[in-house]
Amino acid sequence: MLEGAVDSILEAVGDTPLVRLRRVVGDVDAEIYAKCEYLNPAGSMKDRMALHLVDEAERRGELRSGGTIVEATSGNTGAALAMIAAVRGYRCVFVMPDKMSDEKIASLRAFGARVLVCPTAVEPDDPRSYYSVARRVCDETPGAFYANQYHNQDNPGGHYRSTGPELWAQTGGGFDALVAGLGTGGTVTGVGRFLREKKPDVALIGVDPVGSLYYDYFKNGRLTTPFTYKVEGIGEDFIPSTIDLSLLDDVVRVDDRESFAMTRELVRREGLYVGGSSGAAVAGALKYARARGGGVRVVVILPDGASKYLSKIFNDDWMREHGLLGPGATLGTVADLIRFRVDNPVIAARAGDSVREVVALLKEHRVSQVPVLDGTRLLGAISEVDLLRYIVSEEESLDSPVGPLVEADFASASPATPLAEVQALLNEVRVVLVQVDGALVAVITKIDLIDYLARH
Ligand code: PMP
Repeated sequence: MLEGAVDSILEAVGDTPLVRLRRVVGDVDAEIYAKCEYLNPAGSMKDRMALHLVDEAERRGELRSGGTIVEATSGNTGAALAMIAAVRGYRCVFVMPDKMSDEKIASLRAFGARVLVCPTAVEPDDPRSYYSVARRVCDETPGAFYANQYHNQDNPGGHYRSTGPELWAQTGGGFDALVAGLGTGGTVTGVGRFLREKKPDVALIGVDPVGSLYYDYFKNGRLTTPFTYKVEGIGEDFIPSTIDLSLLDDVVRVDDRESFAMTRELVRREGLYVGGSSGAAVAGALKYARARGGGVRVVVILPDGASKYLSKIFNDDWMREHGLLGPGATLGTVADLIRFRVDNPVIAARAGDSVREVVALLKEHRVSQVPVLDGTRLLGAISEVDLLRYIVSEEESLDSPVGPLVEADFASASPATPLAEVQALLNEVRVVLVQVDGALVAVITKIDLIDYLARH
């Protein structure tokens, strides 16, 4: 064996560079360091966790010689597992949602894996969803091992043993905050657990795309109605058991437009050949750093590379077609609607307000529903219909607090959310609530949208 050679590509997982960002940081008073996980051999930070996950499955006897690895994956975990399977002689079957790029699917097939594509726009428990299909394939394949990255604790475990200690050794712990996009949450949870043991006051910040559940669940404890977005690999429409949100100090929200603009900047101005969730993470890191100030030192994880997104994020036609480049969507955005309206600031009720008081509030402001806050926590909205139903029920009391009557039947948007998206959402939920930095800035119902569109 030649000195300096490794036995297989699996020994080349990890040891990724940490690079200081310069030009994209602009005037933000912070030092931002990028952990280049996209340089792992199968193309992402998932290499680390997949290796640990397979090692543990072998050790427990769940994966045996000649076995088949099955996974529901958006791509990077698949590539990592496929690489490991190639080296160790396993077969692989991957099930993925249809919004994933063709390049991701092709790269899995290149490793010799079987790929099944399922519809994105169905509930996780629908038999056509990629979660359900993966389970079925597993049940029907002898010697199958379901990697199950959303619930397998070896996912955060891999980052706890690999990414965390490596970052610590690389920096001596001299940074104030770690910023990472939230998918399964394995990265932030595993790295975060390790860092907290070493440095209890390190800030752990998650980044979540608008449309995903994490932001509102973290801020308000409410599960809102999720909607689709274009950035791949981050955000969820359910809460996986691999994420420990209690570790996090904050969740920062980013939209597709700013995520992709930053992705392009990272490639063009920093020479970092990264994908969309890296742009999202850096955009989130800069938001966090700007708010915190004081020369804060931030480490941000760059999960995967640009090559899988050449036909999307790096293709001007695709970007324009999806309203992500040039002038905004034709109908405008939530910000346009807010500017057009005169009813600022938002009228809201408090959870402790009595039914009587809320009825008076609706009457006074001539509105049919109001958002309800518990301190700064957004509980949802309450409408005339809810109050009427309550008042005619047996146990009504006009002096009871409205808090328990509020359902989380809302979707959560940002000022950059296209109004076309809001229109679609209002078919599913009664109200779209708009938040900026955790503060409620607007309440949009059907009539608001009609009113705005009728005048434009
Ligand atoms: N970015 C990309 C491109 C990913 O594939 C993933 C994994 N879903 C993430 C970010 C998020 O990482 P994690 O699942 O560890 O939260």
